[in-house]
Amino acid sequence: MRMSIATVCLSGGLAEKLEAIAEAGFKGVEIFENDLLSFNGTPSDVRKMVGDLGLDIITFQPFRDFEGLPPERRARAFARAERKFDVMHELGCDLMLVCSNVAADSLGGIDRAAADLRELGDRAKARGLRIGFEALAWGRHVSDYRDAWEAVRRADHAHVGLVLDTFHTFAKKTDIAAMRSIPRDRIFLVQVADAPMMDMDPLSWSRHYRNFPGQGDLPLIDFMAALDATGYDGLLSLEIFNDQFRAGSPRSLAVDGHRSLIFMLDQVRQVTGHTIRGAPTLPPRSYVLGTEFIEFAIDEASRPSFEKLLSGIGFAKAGTHVSKSVGRWTQGGINIVLNSEKEGFASNFNITHGTAVCAIGLRVADAPATLARAEGLLDHPFRQAVRPGELDIPAVRGLGGSLVYFIDPASDLARVWDIEFKPATPTNASVGAGLTEVDHISQSMHYEEVLTWLLFYTSLLDVAKTPEQDVLDPGGLVKSQVVQSADGTLRIVLNASQSSRTQSSRFLNEAFGSGVQHIAFATDDIFKTAAAIKANGVEILAIPENYYDDLEAKIDIEPALLDRLRNANILYDREDTAEYFQIYTQTFDERFFFEIVQRRDYKGFGAANAQVRLTAQSRMARAPGVPRR
Ligand code: MG
Ligand code: MG
Repeated sequence: MRMSIATVCLSGGLAEKLEAIAEAGFKGVEIFENDLLSFNGTPSDVRKMVGDLGLDIITFQPFRDFEGLPPERRARAFARAERKFDVMHELGCDLMLVCSNVAADSLGGIDRAAADLRELGDRAKARGLRIGFEALAWGRHVSDYRDAWEAVRRADHAHVGLVLDTFHTFAKKTDIAAMRSIPRDRIFLVQVADAPMMDMDPLSWSRHYRNFPGQGDLPLIDFMAALDATGYDGLLSLEIFNDQFRAGSPRSLAVDGHRSLIFMLDQVRQVTGHTIRGAPTLPPRSYVLGTEFIEFAIDEASRPSFEKLLSGIGFAKAGTHVSKSVGRWTQGGINIVLNSEKEGFASNFNITHGTAVCAIGLRVADAPATLARAEGLLDHPFRQAVRPGELDIPAVRGLGGSLVYFIDPASDLARVWDIEFKPATPTNASVGAGLTEVDHISQSMHYEEVLTWLLFYTSLLDVAKTPEQDVLDPGGLVKSQVVQSADGTLRIVLNASQSSRTQSSRFLNEAFGSGVQHIAFATDDIFKTAAAIKANGVEILAIPENYYDDLEAKIDIEPALLDRLRNANILYDREDTAEYFQIYTQTFDERFFFEIVQRRDYKGFGAANAQVRLTAQSRMARAPGVPRR
């Protein structure tokens, strides 16, 4: 298939969009008329620009309100089409997309539509052009691809073909089985868009909420499998209208778009069992076995207080890097790496972001295969000079310029701690606080970035997204989206908000960009852990009395348990018999904090407690404008 994208998907002016599209590796582009009208130059200028970028204009669109017009308006519609044909000649594009008529005075009847398309086909043929007919979900008489196909079939004209569009098909829950019997040479173009499931009129849904394949909930793989049955391997183009995309960076969105198509075709390949022309063959998504390490970029000055916090929550220093100012702290199966190098990646990261998580190391079955998949998906591999005796650990760029490393048990990578670190002489007497592993990682990002990182994780790793949730922060709404592996070996919470006053947004300002805002560690006994931490002098986020009074009213909770929770500032949630316990440390450097959780068959993240927790934290936050201590 030839992968393409419509200019309407991206923000910016036409020149900027085209550059972004070419840079992302597309070869085809759909030109939207509005982008042409607002462009300061002629269609021939656009043709030259597109050609110089190595792109083809695959279609010019939309041509609206054409078929089934009453006799007095019909002639004008053909005259309009002729003028578009002139523009197409100048653009060097041979396919015009005709979408079904929405005009109130348009007339029904498949034969009438077919006759109009046939006549337009004659005119297109005379000019060496083709037309493709698409059913809009809100078309007046043609709103179903099966009717559009019937009109095209009856038009019986080599220059008239069908345009299929996933959104219009699924917006009306149209059965896709009939697609399988459409002759492939009669399909001129296939447009793909995903969308979140919403109960909304199709027009508003379409104009504001479409997104790239894999970012929404539509059964696109089923659609593509039905299309595959026809043998179609022609143009496949993204056509997305989305308010967040209009606020995003065209370059990063174009890459997301291309990645989404590659990922989609990769899934189609698995379903149909054969390779798709034009799509790379990728190693499978990697199942994450666990989080091997979390690395902080931290300067020497901030290190003592952070190490004090780490040892306070039960970590012990386990090793020092053989040649770098890098330390390893461990507890249970958790490794925390503190990187205070004065040059290189972590140092640059620290200069930009302050104390922050600069890398996450994931345990996978096959690290090189994971990297190969990442490269096939247009992720950005990261390499830095490796000194003698050090391992070259595969990595890609993640959120906010941070790194995601891949460690596997099959190679020396699993021995990184033995190879690159010498054991520490015991420096603290901590016997641990019962933390066992990383439970989840919470990342804050700009609102427009959520779909980007959702696609990044779901396309590369064997994780699924859970439905998006709104969390109430005293400063406004926070949108929260989780990606996780089937048995919870990796859980990442993506948070974003449009209000500048939420904790999530304040983090972006404090840390100068998106990144890890908190890490939650798991314990098997929250009460023991809370007591140990308290004994170590670590202050736990205080939870107001009212919370426990409310808990008592809400949940049928044993008084003794309630007292224990109250005394230790533990948040609690229960779903049927599943239970969840949470405590929080105070924020470090006014932005980062740790959470400690205990799960008993509980799958969620304590959404019911989020507002209380966020409010407690915002009480602790310094007032705006007050300088940092
Ligand atoms: Mg369309
Ligand atoms: Mg959490």
